[in-house]
Amino acid sequence: MKRMLALLCALALLSAPGAMAAPAEDAPLPDGRSRYVMDVTLDTQAARLTETVTVTFMNDSGAVWPAVCFGDFVPAVQEHAGAGACSTAVTAVTGADGGALDFAYSRDEGLLTVALPRPLEPGQTDTVTICYEADVPRATGERFQAASFPGSGGVTFRLCQFYPMLCPWRDGGFVHHPYIFDGEAFFTECSDYALTLRLPEDFTVIASGDERLLSAGDGQAIWQITGEKMRDLVITATTEFAAPCTGQVNGVTVNSWGTPDQAAQAEASLQAALDSIALFEEKIGKYPYDELDICVAYMPAAAGGIEYPGLVEIIQADMTAPEALGIIVTHEVAHQWFYASVGNDQYDEPFLDESFASFCETLYRQYVLGDSPEDIAADQFSREWLSDDIFDIDLGYGDYYAVGDGNGGWNYYAAIYALGRSFLWEVRQAMGDEAFFAMLGSWYEQEQFQVATIDGFLDHLAACSGNDPAVAALVGEYMAR
Ligand SMILES: [Zn+2]
Repeated sequence: MKRMLALLCALALLSAPGAMAAPAEDAPLPDGRSRYVMDVTLDTQAARLTETVTVTFMNDSGAVWPAVCFGDFVPAVQEHAGAGACSTAVTAVTGADGGALDFAYSRDEGLLTVALPRPLEPGQTDTVTICYEADVPRATGERFQAASFPGSGGVTFRLCQFYPMLCPWRDGGFVHHPYIFDGEAFFTECSDYALTLRLPEDFTVIASGDERLLSAGDGQAIWQITGEKMRDLVITATTEFAAPCTGQVNGVTVNSWGTPDQAAQAEASLQAALDSIALFEEKIGKYPYDELDICVAYMPAAAGGIEYPGLVEIIQADMTAPEALGIIVTHEVAHQWFYASVGNDQYDEPFLDESFASFCETLYRQYVLGDSPEDIAADQFSREWLSDDIFDIDLGYGDYYAVGDGNGGWNYYAAIYALGRSFLWEVRQAMGDEAFFAMLGSWYEQEQFQVATIDGFLDHLAACSGNDPAVAALVGEYMAR
């Protein structure tokens, strides 16, 4: 079955002029990155995905792997959207030679464990192909959903975390965190992707990486999506968006998408993103990809936006307060530097992505909106207001929720978003701009496409500040370690 699909895929690619063939399974893995070759059909009438996901990976640990684990976040979202209404299925798992592999699939845990045909020694590579199916919930408050903006007459499929994702190996095991709904707490490593997507031809496809229409006819279309050095791959497939507002900055193309009714928001988001990219390139380092897509997304009012590599989603905004939209956009764009590029375990060490993205809001306020440093400083949370240990900024998502006071969400947001931003703001004041931005730039360069740690950041900060006691005092004040 896999061979047949691979052949069909190859024929489809050959028939399109200029199309790149999917890489062979035994092609080398650049820098040891995993490679996903996927063939995905979206049945938009039934709202169901059928996927063949071939993952080639290297054992980058010091241990022998008898099995590998894949996280599947789809069941958690399906149950959240409506208990028992949707299903997933792993219909087959095969190895590099096409032979069937033993596997265990737990919908409750969102975990697929695949026994390898032979134990994988450190440094060796192997390939697993997973045949997978999933319903897409018809819902409005999920990251994986089919929904329509009121009155649009169309539909948008938001396909996030829609495929089995290889779990990173850390400290003697594969890391698999629970799916959370009031924040983003994912942990995956940079991989390369080549995805063929089949769906009705009236849909426009917007995705992480490069998306290209290969062929269309008889009502069906085939798109190819490719991406390198991405921790995730997300797809928006829509019949309700207008043509995008498009701009360029420093060679980066930005496309801002929304329905015709959301044209003003799409224009404002484009400008905020262009300003943000120019600013962060100047202050931190080069944007990691060639393109950025911005999509208006149907999501709960409590959320502002969500980041994915090369694509950010922004809630439908109140355009009577456009400066609020600018802050949301700059935060999500900043995640291209801190999460997409400098990666981290978002569940265990959310300081490394959320606090940095929140700090970047202060740069946007100062250098784009023209707010004074005094005004920005006055808006920061004070550590003195929240001196309780649960507001230490170097804890994990589960720690903020484990205190049992029913205020886990507040603890998490106050510590990671508000106090984390204050901490970096105060470190900037303590170091001075020249040393601070040199520290930030070299951190970005050193950790690009890697998995950073808070310990690593503190070592870097100490070195770049010359073990400045004022900086060390801030670390002691804000962090538990
Ligand atoms: Zn964020």
